[in-house]
Amino acid sequence: MMPIRVDFRAGNDTHQFDNQIQAVITDVFNKHPFFSQTVKPPHCLTIRVSIGDIFNDNRFNTSINYDSFFVDQSADLMIEKLDLHHGSSPFNPPSIVPRCLEKIIAHELGHFIDACLDQAFQYAHAHRPSGNLRMILNDLWNSYIDARLGSLAPCTLQERQQEAACRRVPAPLIERAWNSEFKTYPTLLGAARDVSTLRT
Ligand SMILES: [Zn+2]
Repeated sequence: MMPIRVDFRAGNDTHQFDNQIQAVITDVFNKHPFFSQTVKPPHCLTIRVSIGDIFNDNRFNTSINYDSFFVDQSADLMIEKLDLHHGSSPFNPPSIVPRCLEKIIAHELGHFIDACLDQAFQYAHAHRPSGNLRMILNDLWNSYIDARLGSLAPCTLQERQQEAACRRVPAPLIERAWNSEFKTYPTLLGAARDVSTLRT
């Protein structure tokens, strides 16, 4: 097992779930299905966790930012408070559902492993789009990640297709991503560009 450090950042006002969240992150990382003969865990990794309140800032979504990994082997994991309480009332009683959290974290770590640890994914020197193109690329990448997570996937193919439909990404394209037709960041970007080009 690799040394993984989990720090908690601002926004986590109560700290009541820190130990559980830390345990879930460590456990999911150590058994993550994306590790293989060629994709190996880093020597060390610090994950800074922020817990955000969707009711104060509706742009706060569960997500991961790993730009700092290439500088100091760290990543920032933002967890939307609602995701901690998936399937139960977020108000009363306060609770976390580890199984749901495990899937959400497995997905976010999937982005990190693809981008930072899998050379074949070709993220390091790829062009990173912004705006709508980035959203479409993420729709495709999310589908590619969940397909490979198996029983750890937070969403089904149908759910990923529904999510992408609001950006008018064709369902068959999300299915092609699910079937691992786009295995690198540049090919995911190319497929995303085709969708946005079709519209203009
Ligand atoms: Zn994602």
